[in-house]
Amino acid sequence: MEKSEKRTGIVGGGISGMAAAWELLKKGVAADIYERDATLGGLAGWFSVNGTTLEKFYHHLYNLDKDLIQLIHEVGLGENLVFRQTNTGAFYVNKIYRLSKPIDLIKYKPLPFMDRIRMGLLVLKARKVQDWRDLDKISAKDWIIRNSSQTVYDIVWSPLFRSKFGRYANEVSAAWLWSKLVQRGGSRSKGGAEELGYLKGGYGLLFNQMEQKLTEQGVRIFKNAPVDGIETRNGIVTGLRTGGQTIPYTHVIACTQLPDYLSIAGDAPEGYRSELNKIGFLGNATLVMRLRKRLSDTYWVNITDPECPFVGVIEQTNLLDESHYGGNHLAYISRYMDVQDPMYNMTVDELYRVYAPWLKKVFPEFTDEWIEELMLWHEPYSQAVVSTGYGDRIPDAVTPIKNLYLSTMAQIFPEDRQMSNGVKFAKKAAELVISE
Ligand SMILES: Cc1cc2nc3c(=O)[nH]c(=O)nc-3n(C[C@H](O)[C@H](O)[C@H](O)COP(=O)(O)OP(=O)(O)OC[C@H]3O[C@@H](n4cnc5c(N)ncnc54)[C@H](O)[C@@H]3O)c2cc1C
Repeated sequence: MEKSEKRTGIVGGGISGMAAAWELLKKGVAADIYERDATLGGLAGWFSVNGTTLEKFYHHLYNLDKDLIQLIHEVGLGENLVFRQTNTGAFYVNKIYRLSKPIDLIKYKPLPFMDRIRMGLLVLKARKVQDWRDLDKISAKDWIIRNSSQTVYDIVWSPLFRSKFGRYANEVSAAWLWSKLVQRGGSRSKGGAEELGYLKGGYGLLFNQMEQKLTEQGVRIFKNAPVDGIETRNGIVTGLRTGGQTIPYTHVIACTQLPDYLSIAGDAPEGYRSELNKIGFLGNATLVMRLRKRLSDTYWVNITDPECPFVGVIEQTNLLDESHYGGNHLAYISRYMDVQDPMYNMTVDELYRVYAPWLKKVFPEFTDEWIEELMLWHEPYSQAVVSTGYGDRIPDAVTPIKNLYLSTMAQIFPEDRQMSNGVKFAKKAAELVISE
């Protein structure tokens, strides 16, 4: 393939930065990647467990995640892609209720019978919506209450919104909920069972394989290499400032979280920066438990009790069984919160002490003796606050600085922030470089 004169600097070695470089390479455009951490992966970063890799934060995929699935195949890991039937449940007053199939809703005792019907109708109504723009004008709370009942909101949804969006729970856009209902509801086998995907060997395998293939083709990947600024002249990108020097580039793609982008895009106009600065984020702290025994047969347990200090328990080994992890069972205990929340800053032991009584309540057989290892991971920009009208605030891939493009998780709306959407936006940014 003919080599282009363009030289692109990519900031960030998460899935978006790697996918952008992959896309550029396919079109013969040279790229360098700068990652401030010692390892690639970003939010999908990983650690080693009994000879394999596991993400710091739970990472499944839906069968609708076409861009990620395509990338996995292109990288040569298609055979590692597995889809499994999984169970979802909700913990409500001392019991886990199954909520995997539509029929489970009819049996969901925490809701009065008529409200179960109302809830079912709400889901059906969501599936019929074609254009989400009108839904973005109202909050999910108002939309749920208007289309089902206050009880449905209080018992089913309110705890989930509070756990994922904290003090912003009542502001979340109905468009986000709509997309979540359609997306997760759409990830089903032909028989209607919930089906989620995963990459055998973990996403560490994907990043390692991409790193190797990109490097072989001449992409330079710099780790421990924070970019301190995007250099411009007369409103046009000229390079990246890193390690005390400026490296010239004709184009730059920023593939970081939005606040990280704003911290290096100092030359962008103030009005643009202050609009983007209005988008808030929640952090996430996830405790990973390596266990001798299985907590339950449910992959994803939503905790609906507002007193419970965590949102959900995601048992990885109910997606990919324990034989892949040396016989250990692995569970993620997740909580979203403001980074100022004292719990965000707790040590692993402090957090476990807060969680332990609740873990024993949700899984009555669980004891401390089951624990082989506890690990704790934090990320400050884990979820953008997608309040009503977010559709009008989505950051554009094209920035006011010529030849500077943006691919960031905050662009993903109304869909949830799946990695696959990160790949989609990375492709779009790469396409802009290629066609420019
Ligand atoms: C708790 C949790 C659960 C999730 N579950 C799922 C799931 O089940 N399925 C799914 O598909 N997705 C899931 N996601 C979302 C998924 O992780 C993200 O969508 C995706 O990883 C974002 O990729 P990215 O490349 O856009 O950003 P990031 O992964 O954030 O990568 C950005 C990179 O830029 C680097 N960087 C920042 N500033 C600089 C700088 N100045 N110089 C150099 N480098 C810099 C960072 O270190 C980072 O590595 C989850 C996320 C969280 C937090």
